[in-house]
Amino acid sequence: MSGTEWEISERARTVHGESIVWDAHACLPLIPGHSMEALERHRAAGVTFVSVNVGMDMNPIAQVLRVIAGFRAWLEEHSDHFLLAGSVADVERTKREGKLAVAFDLEGSVMLEDDPAMVRLYHDLGVRQIHLAYNRDNSVAGGCHGSDVPLTPLGRRVVEAINRAGLLMDCSHSGYRTSMEIMERSTRPVIFSHSGNITDDHIDACARTGGVVAINGIGIFLGDNDTSVETLLRHVDYVVGRIGAEHVGLGLDYMFGELSGDLPPGSRSEEWWPPGNEYDLDDLRTVPPERFPAITEGLLARGYAEGDVRRILGGNMCRVASASWL
Ligand SMILES: [Zn+2]
Repeated sequence: MSGTEWEISERARTVHGESIVWDAHACLPLIPGHSMEALERHRAAGVTFVSVNVGMDMNPIAQVLRVIAGFRAWLEEHSDHFLLAGSVADVERTKREGKLAVAFDLEGSVMLEDDPAMVRLYHDLGVRQIHLAYNRDNSVAGGCHGSDVPLTPLGRRVVEAINRAGLLMDCSHSGYRTSMEIMERSTRPVIFSHSGNITDDHIDACARTGGVVAINGIGIFLGDNDTSVETLLRHVDYVVGRIGAEHVGLGLDYMFGELSGDLPPGSRSEEWWPPGNEYDLDDLRTVPPERFPAITEGLLARGYAEGDVRRILGGNMCRVASASWL
């Protein structure tokens, strides 16, 4: 890909074009058989890898499995531009071939049906990243809108299973105590794939695991529903200032479609996205994938060394994926 359509400086175009650019989380509609064509926007923006959600805690296992089946079939049919990546070597190969590498992520653990052996099964289906809870408490862990419980005894076994199966351990959407305990227990680096409103304790503990805090692009978490690149980069600056450029990444959490459209019949959006947190804002905005080249340019303009820019864009996520994916 030439990248001539990116309206950025020559230097930024070179750095962006040569870097592995890693978006640690994006959402397509969780509709079985739905097209993934929208991800062409990532590829056109010079993104190398994107982790795509295939299910949250409110989604029944039948829905999760059919979404995975549909996405796998779609990727297979569109292998000219896309690849279901299982390893960092796959990601590097797609970069050379100008394709977009995709892997799946789970937001929660209800779909494990209280059975740690299910972690390995999801891995075999293409899942490479998993949360233990999605906003609310479950049988495994505490959610960030829950009652701040630690891991349950089953949750500790799930942490071990995730380490053993070789998935990225992801603390986004988990509660404070659960996240701190996961980072204590995990034998591999831990990430926050699309972090908003995490504490300094979380940031420091994540760095101690060798992990990555990936900054999200959602306006209500960046502040004042402001999705300018400048605002996103202020969050990058803060975390870099605290734990260093080797522990920062990007996970925009761009949603191709309506958030509430993923809710199965009978579940209430207020339960999963509680009122008072701006989730219901009429024009909830997210930094779109088209802004990735501008993020590269913005990092360079702020004086980041080229090596640090490459790390933040994707080098750090490559490092933790290498340490996690087997
Ligand atoms: Zn999320």
